[in-house]
Amino acid sequence: MDKILEVKDLHVTFTTYGGSVQAVRGVNFHLNKGETLAIVGESGCGKSVTSNAIMRLIPNPPGEITKGNIYFKGQDLIQFREKKMRSIRGVDISMIFQDPMTALNPTLTIGTQLMEGLKEHKGISGKQAKEKAIEMMELVGIPSPEERLKQYPHQFSGGMRQRIVIAIALICDPDLLIADEPTTALDVTIQAQILELFEKIQEKMGVSIILITHDLGVVAKIADRIAVMYAGKIIETGTKREIFYQPQHPYTKGLLKSVPRLDIKEDKLTPIDGTPPDLFSPPQGCPFAARCPFAMEVCDKVYPVHTELTSSHNVDCWLQDERAQQLLAESSFQY
Ligand code: SF4
Ligand code: MG
Repeated sequence: MDKILEVKDLHVTFTTYGGSVQAVRGVNFHLNKGETLAIVGESGCGKSVTSNAIMRLIPNPPGEITKGNIYFKGQDLIQFREKKMRSIRGVDISMIFQDPMTALNPTLTIGTQLMEGLKEHKGISGKQAKEKAIEMMELVGIPSPEERLKQYPHQFSGGMRQRIVIAIALICDPDLLIADEPTTALDVTIQAQILELFEKIQEKMGVSIILITHDLGVVAKIADRIAVMYAGKIIETGTKREIFYQPQHPYTKGLLKSVPRLDIKEDKLTPIDGTPPDLFSPPQGCPFAARCPFAMEVCDKVYPVHTELTSSHNVDCWLQDERAQQLLAESSFQY
């Protein structure tokens, strides 16, 4: 399968008066063409920082990409100058953020905002741009697009505004769409509609999608693969089936127990006890050790082995080590 994006050993650090925060600490993942990869984790785990790094939108200072590569269609974005990045953002790679209101300019009509990118990047003007804008409005499900192009953001509901944001992100026909918590600000029924819209867009446009979310429920609907992030690391990656039905990392298991699921009737939801580690001085061993019911001596001391369980499923956890399996077999642990 063709890889559209490959992130290798990405490190992002923020320098503050209190010291350096190691927000992303050696992240590796890839995205195949036409695929939806969900990056899931609690707030502060580094998932938004990772997506901002791909867009090269880490404010410097205080932030800095200190190490790694981000290959987009074979070229390392890290090497690009800002001018080159500006020609890529919104054209080859687009991003959608959580709040549809702040993403739109309240003083400009929807039509103007839709056509802006086309005029700037594609050199399309007037009639053609308007046609394309109408086509995009139709694609994202906004009725009477021709009249509505003349309206302003406040004349649309929250869900409609998010549809417009999606239309703007897609109008230049990007290869990669990064959506950071695109449904978090919306109510549940609208959320479901927006997720359906992502599926439709992918089918029609073939765009590859990275979906950033704290909500595994959102992922269940549209992701092909899932990467679980914790404390600046990706600790487990797998297909949706692998993550939902054969999760291996105790943190992934904990996440699954803490979210409502449609496919499994859970008696009650169990939140994961404790809090993630301080990324001013991240632990040298497993970052989940302080919260993990299976933590062993080695977990505190040494970062866990990276184990490839299948060609798509991999996990960073000492439980995959034979010696741990032995210990587990001898104890009364239920894993
Ligand atoms: Fe738990 Fe150890 Fe696995 Fe970390 S490496 S998740 S502490 S068992
Ligand atoms: Mg975030």
